[in-house]
Amino acid sequence: MSRDITQAFKEANKYVDLIEKNDADITREEREMVAKETVENFRNHVNKGFLEYRKSVTEKNSFAVTEWTGQGSILKDILGREYIDLLGGFGLYSYGIRHPKIVAAVKAQLDRSPQYSQEMLDPLRAKLAQVIGMITPGDIQYGFFANSGTEAVEGAMKLAKFYTGKKGFIAMLKGFHGKTLGSLSLMGKDVYRQPLLPLLEGVQHAPFGDAGAVERILKSSAAVGNEIAGIVAEPIQGEAGAIVPPDDFWPRLRELCDKYGVLLIADEVQTGFGRTGKIFGVDHWDVTPDIMCFGKALGGGVVPMSGFFSTPKIWEVMEPNPFMHTTTTGGNPIACAAALAAITVLQTEDLPDQAAKKGEYVKGRLGKLKEKYPGILEKVTGKGLLIGMEFVSDEIGYQLSAGLFARGVITSGTLTNAKCIRFEPALNIPMETLDKALGVMEEVFKEIKGE
Ligand SMILES: *Cc1c(COP(=O)(O)O)cnc(C)c1O
Repeated sequence: MSRDITQAFKEANKYVDLIEKNDADITREEREMVAKETVENFRNHVNKGFLEYRKSVTEKNSFAVTEWTGQGSILKDILGREYIDLLGGFGLYSYGIRHPKIVAAVKAQLDRSPQYSQEMLDPLRAKLAQVIGMITPGDIQYGFFANSGTEAVEGAMKLAKFYTGKKGFIAMLKGFHGKTLGSLSLMGKDVYRQPLLPLLEGVQHAPFGDAGAVERILKSSAAVGNEIAGIVAEPIQGEAGAIVPPDDFWPRLRELCDKYGVLLIADEVQTGFGRTGKIFGVDHWDVTPDIMCFGKALGGGVVPMSGFFSTPKIWEVMEPNPFMHTTTTGGNPIACAAALAAITVLQTEDLPDQAAKKGEYVKGRLGKLKEKYPGILEKVTGKGLLIGMEFVSDEIGYQLSAGLFARGVITSGTLTNAKCIRFEPALNIPMETLDKALGVMEEVFKEIKGE
């Protein structure tokens, strides 16, 4: 593209004006202009591949829907069409879109101080660390905040290496921890990993849920001198399609870590803060990890926010030089305001309990659909509102999500399991909305059956 600085300023101004406009004052022409430009700009400046992907997962003509606003569990496109959000931004929107209490805290903080000087002590970060220390199990009490889930995992890996002086990790097949190079080393799926090899040295993978396999790796690694710093796992695998491990898995990981002097790292980026029906995924098994990673819902679905937390004993290694791990924008005041407000919402709306009850309800309804329309849905997995629907084939999974999208219900596949569609709505999704979406789902089941 040729350089055109004058035009660039004009284009930027056009959209700043649009952003600042009252939504009711945006004309039909302007809306159509945005829809059209968005497709063009994706094609020419973001990634054409994304448009191809959209075409492949939607029925024709609906690939180019341009998202514009939303509230609670309803998303609206620029032309005013509404969608029920069953995807919840892959776990980002646990509190729903634009939760009023979280938005109000962020707006107020924006008017006070959106970032900090980097030199003085910032009160919101300190308070949030204390509050999360109080919510987390065991003696976990110190934390570091960043912006994305993958950064939280990277930080956790560095902490484990600093503390143990060892460099290896055991991660899980089909596990997902983010896509920067360190976290990617832990990825349990070849496509994302292979083109980038070699990644971090000393990472080995075990089948998720198989504590015996983890122990064999620990034993053989010890026997040949490949020392392991930590075991990293999701309490319930998200990207793999809401896979719940056997009940003895996490308690046995805890025992193995103690026995072999290895740190247990729970990646709660997707499971944390109520998603699975408990505050944290590990709470299902009363296990206290050595390090916990948070992200996604931590910023209340309003501001990007992540963090990793650990115990005083382990955190000591970060103290002699607190600049061994830093970030300029992580834990900024607006993100901390969002997270603090989100935690108050978690409590006042009793979101873990809502997730547990609605999760049971949804699983019951889906179980009935499975029986009533055989040959479509293979199984339903997950806990709370982290639910995976595994279909008999990729094709049927595609038909279902395309059929839902065409009827105004948003879901998505998973990155590490093609036959699986996830069901991850806001934890406070109103029952009527949930029922409406389930009704639409039944329509699509009927359609697939040719009824
Ligand atoms: C989404 C996710 C990540 C990565 O978070 P990003 O913010 O996308 O970097 C890490 N771990 C788990 C379990 C996740 O679900």
